[in-house]
Amino acid sequence: MTRKYLIAGNWKLNAGGAKGIELATAVAAATKGAQAEVVVAPPFTVLAAIANDLEGTHVGVAGQNLYPKDSGAFTGEISAPMLLEAGAKWVILGHSERRQYFGETDASVKDKVVAALAANLCPIACIGETLAEREAGKTLEVCFRQLDAFSAELAKRPGYGVVAYEPVWAIGTGKVATQEQAQEVHAAIRQRLAAVSAELASKTRILYGGSVKADNAAGLLGSADIDGALVGGASLDAAGFAAIVKAAPAT
Ligand code: PEP
Repeated sequence: MTRKYLIAGNWKLNAGGAKGIELATAVAAATKGAQAEVVVAPPFTVLAAIANDLEGTHVGVAGQNLYPKDSGAFTGEISAPMLLEAGAKWVILGHSERRQYFGETDASVKDKVVAALAANLCPIACIGETLAEREAGKTLEVCFRQLDAFSAELAKRPGYGVVAYEPVWAIGTGKVATQEQAQEVHAAIRQRLAAVSAELASKTRILYGGSVKADNAAGLLGSADIDGALVGGASLDAAGFAAIVKAAPAT
């Protein structure tokens, strides 16, 4: 099964206005002709403008979160249909920062995955262990618990949704997981998906995230079960991000 590499840039709480428009344009130019699929996840304030600018290009747009109701009295929230209408085709869900700072749980992440799929918005669902959990030997236990919360939903459309393995201790810290550490967990995640369905396991793209940069991307992306990257800090620089995109092996 050949899975197309996917490189997604998570801009987090950055580049929410004119800077975001500039960055998106620069990313599209710098990644033109890339073999890998390219996605950027800007803040909501600039998402529609960027989606409009990128229309017809190879770069897709993702939301960084959604609220799992279509509409109603939920002040401050944004729904899956709204993201779709704004031009997003993707949404990052269950990022560790949302779990850590905004009280997201396995159950709420599952609800969001359901809402995304119902709206035809492709979920990039994040899982990953903290340093304390890794040191306690609980890496797989934690990842499987988080994955199991939504894997049956992904199985309803095998290959549509994406899983991102992001060890929390490697996010924004400069501490990247070694190729071996990452591949070991990715292989275990794929095996866990196989218990749900063989088709789900073979078609699901599993991204690695955690301090991915131009100089470590090729090694990580060369691993058998790593199908792309979710990039935070390094996605704010178009040239650096493009170098990661270009590090993906040909498929
Ligand atoms: C992320 O936020 O998803 C991430 C992986 O961040 P960074 O690349 O900065 O570690």
